Amino acid sequence: MSRFQTTAVHAGREDFNALCVHAPPLDLSTTYPIADLGTGSASFDALIGGAADAANPIYARLHNPTVARAEKAIAVLEGTQACVAYSSGMAALTALLMDRAQHGKHVLVVRPLYGTSDHLLESGLCGVQAEFITDAGQIASHLRPDTALVIIETPSNPTLNLIDIRAAVQAAGTVPVAVDSTFATPVLQRPIELGAAYVWHSATKFLGGHGDVIAGVICCDEARAAPLRTMRAATGALLHPLAAYLLHRGLPTLKMRVEAAQANAKVLAQRLSEHPAVAKVHYPGLADSPNAHLVGTQMSGPGSLMAFEMRGGHDAAANVMAKVQVMTSAVSLGSVDSLIQHPAGLTHRMVPDDVKLATGITPGLLRLSVGIEDVEDLWDDLVQAMG
Ligand SMILES: *Cc1c(COP(=O)(O)O)cnc(C)c1O
Repeated sequence: MSRFQTTAVHAGREDFNALCVHAPPLDLSTTYPIADLGTGSASFDALIGGAADAANPIYARLHNPTVARAEKAIAVLEGTQACVAYSSGMAALTALLMDRAQHGKHVLVVRPLYGTSDHLLESGLCGVQAEFITDAGQIASHLRPDTALVIIETPSNPTLNLIDIRAAVQAAGTVPVAVDSTFATPVLQRPIELGAAYVWHSATKFLGGHGDVIAGVICCDEARAAPLRTMRAATGALLHPLAAYLLHRGLPTLKMRVEAAQANAKVLAQRLSEHPAVAKVHYPGLADSPNAHLVGTQMSGPGSLMAFEMRGGHDAAANVMAKVQVMTSAVSLGSVDSLIQHPAGLTHRMVPDDVKLATGITPGLLRLSVGIEDVEDLWDDLVQAMG
């Protein structure tokens, strides 16, 4: 097996020499010619039954070769047998919940997590009843006979809490654990190796990496992937092949982007923690961060997301957002450029106010996704914006 970086460059490209191409063919077909009805019918059965592949793709809602390439590459990087790609991270979570709802109605969720994930789970829209806890140490005591899934997000959005994945898996016993690993990427963390059943990503973020793709993926073993594909064929939450092409294109540079952004983030987190306008910095790379011991063990590095609390509260935070010039005031994260936003006012708006406060989503909190610009320009920008 090749090492991570070689795999990142070559995964999903194994057949290029045979095809005599040097870039992935972008297949935008919606339908595929059926030369032989017997083969067509057998392929239809296979794909509707959840197979990753068949002799004939039949129709692009059942299978698309460009999407399958990107899926294959991401599965290899994540260390899973399979990957199923969706039109967004939220479509991926929806599919996972609808699938697990067939096994039980109760889903146990550790807060905080991405605001829209929280909102979707709270809504009950996907046929499951979510129970929220804020301490992963309470997973075992909240399991029920009908618990179909445990959901954790580590590092968590927006406060960068780390959860011990191995301990969560142990506490969940026979109940599968799904880890939202969007902030970590497979460069920094591989939850499957720690016992998780599902890893899911908003591939919109680091995996795409350039702010031009909305996508979601679920990585898991083949037996869990098959029903997800069957449901995707039935419900149609597909990743468009052009989006899959762009997603695949981002993978060779994933490690470089993650590491360059992380190097910048380490510097900015340290300097922010010493700045008089800042009350607190939430960053797993700082020694006083809760569960910092998981950096270097569960995670190979602290990543490039952080949140910081302005002493001046809401108005000071709004002022920083208004004044940044190199950084962009915008939601989303994991792009090559730095993005700063206000969780309470934007991404976590739908989280109930009491939950916001209990989980540290305060009026003065800003979340910063550090990009790969020159770190001194980023620091100068922050200093002038906080002034
Ligand atoms: C953005 C995000 C999501 C949602 O993904 P979309 O691609 O925007 O649908 C889920 N989890 C985390 C941690 C995210 O940052």
